[in-house]
Amino acid sequence: MERQDRQGRGAGALNQPTAPIETDALIVGAGPVGLFLAFQLGLLEISCHIVDALPAAGGQCVALYGHKPIYDIPGTPVTSGRELAQSLLQQVAPFKPQFHFGEQVATMARQDDGRLLMTTSAGTSFLAKTVFIAAGVGAFVPKRIAIEDIGRFEGQSLFYHPDSLDRFAGQAVVVNGGDDIALETAIALVATARQVTLVHRRDGFQADEAIVASMRALVAAGKLAFRVGQPTAFDGKQLQITTPDATTVDLPLDALVACLGISPRLGPIADWGLELERKQVPVDTEKYETRERGVFAVGDINTYPGKKKLIVCGFHEATLAAWGATAIVFPGKAVPLQYTTTSTRLHELLGVTVPR
Ligand SMILES: Cc1cc2nc3c(=O)[nH]c(=O)nc-3n(C[C@H](O)[C@H](O)[C@H](O)COP(=O)(O)OP(=O)(O)OC[C@H]3O[C@@H](n4cnc5c(N)ncnc54)[C@H](O)[C@@H]3O)c2cc1C
Repeated sequence: MERQDRQGRGAGALNQPTAPIETDALIVGAGPVGLFLAFQLGLLEISCHIVDALPAAGGQCVALYGHKPIYDIPGTPVTSGRELAQSLLQQVAPFKPQFHFGEQVATMARQDDGRLLMTTSAGTSFLAKTVFIAAGVGAFVPKRIAIEDIGRFEGQSLFYHPDSLDRFAGQAVVVNGGDDIALETAIALVATARQVTLVHRRDGFQADEAIVASMRALVAAGKLAFRVGQPTAFDGKQLQITTPDATTVDLPLDALVACLGISPRLGPIADWGLELERKQVPVDTEKYETRERGVFAVGDINTYPGKKKLIVCGFHEATLAAWGATAIVFPGKAVPLQYTTTSTRLHELLGVTVPR
């Protein structure tokens, strides 16, 4: 790991345009494990910021299987990926963690005072006493349309998984994709866009049945157009698609919205000087700390003997990692174990009133 002085100067240092945000803890990744970790840190009165490359919380649960049922969350016979993320957000809300979405944590550098300077792709920087890597299988980035040079239209007339659809009001929009997110995007746009066309490579979808039914109803009502085909050319104003019978069709548009799924990239974490075993970070099983003091790794990103990539295992790791941080955040202070059932201090922190 690169060492830097207090001003953040070091070999290859980025210019820091604004003062870094000082925090007890920085969590890299707002998947289920990162969210539960923020809750555990909150119980221990450790403040945190959470950064995720995605535009919203939930990690794989939301990005890969939002509507699918999960049956192995303790005490919850059945939930879905999205519902689990919502519950975790609700649970952590009293601690007001600061979220930074749509930013990838890019660099890590140890400072002279022992803290860690972390910077993101958006130029935000943090000076953290502790860092928790809850990065799952890596940062999720949208899959791109495979047309040469199409990247130059990004942000102008080409948008991947946009955070908000407001900007498309009154426009002619083509949505490309065939999963839940693509169909939900096309359905939502029908209410505000002038014209919406859904383009998918086949007349079959990897999406929830109810969502497919809504989409087909809008097509039958003439409110949404549907074309089967693969994008083959784009000039910023017109998308050319090639249909299964090899004819080409030009679709004039104001905006092309592509929701082709997302794929994980371990990305910059590989350059942080941490030991890696098959793209995972080895940790101890007492505190889930890496070999770098104050840098913990929890959830799918870590490895240790017997590791299982399950949400419940990540919750356990997060709990012990949060406790592991107390020695660094509160040096010399013995932090007692308290129960949420009986501790008035924890009730105060949680903002709950419990009848005596
Ligand atoms: C189809 C499917 C079904 C599953 N079903 C179950 C199940 O039934 N039960 C179960 O227990 N588990 C299940 N799993 C596994 C479970 O989803 C994972 O174990 C869990 O999501 C891991 O959580 P996490 O928080 O460690 O990582 P993730 O959920 O992967 O979240 C990590 C987050 O970190 C972000 N990130 C990564 N790198 C960076 C960076 N540099 N900067 C900013 N952000 C970054 C990513 O964008 C992502 O949002 C399933 C997985 C799949 C794919």
